[in-house]
Amino acid sequence: MKKVLIHICCAHCAAYTVEYWRGEGYEAGGFWYNPNIHPFTEHQQRLEAVKALAQEKSLPLIIAPEYDMAEYFRRVAGHETERCRHCFELRLTKTAEAAKANGYDGFTTTLLISPHQKHELIKEIGEKAAGEKDVEFFYADLRKRYSDSRHITKPMNLYRQQYCGCLFSEWERYTQEKAEK
Ligand code: SF4
Repeated sequence: MKKVLIHICCAHCAAYTVEYWRGEGYEAGGFWYNPNIHPFTEHQQRLEAVKALAQEKSLPLIIAPEYDMAEYFRRVAGHETERCRHCFELRLTKTAEAAKANGYDGFTTTLLISPHQKHELIKEIGEKAAGEKDVEFFYADLRKRYSDSRHITKPMNLYRQQYCGCLFSEWERYTQEKAEK
């Protein structure tokens, strides 16, 4: 049985993604590394929700000890309009390394279920990171199952985030809301 390490951005995107890869016959593990989630208290709230989901789904979960917020900002500084590329590179390269180090055949990411993310860019960067670290990138377009994934977590009453993760996205989320009023 092939082993897939699933980079998890949040519990709500992970719920169906884990079911999908298990349904495809993979042994799944979860991986948490999201230095793009600001501030730290928000990061911790999302992590607690992921821990609860992992327990519910009996999913082994690796939590990267580093938060690396400074590295996120170093990469993005001066490239703010391209920030998602740097964000994906940081997170998916780390996931590829963790997959290799922990005996997984390859990795994927829950970002692939979100219709709000830059899907083709995630695929491109996932494949590049896989090539560099000599593991596979397991790709699936799960965007049609986004709301199903949220239905799975609804009865669990887990923390739900209101913005993508970084301070830029938080600012955009709330200024947009204000503009629409
Ligand atoms: S908007 Fe989301 S994906 Fe883009 S840089 Fe911010 S946290 Fe990362």
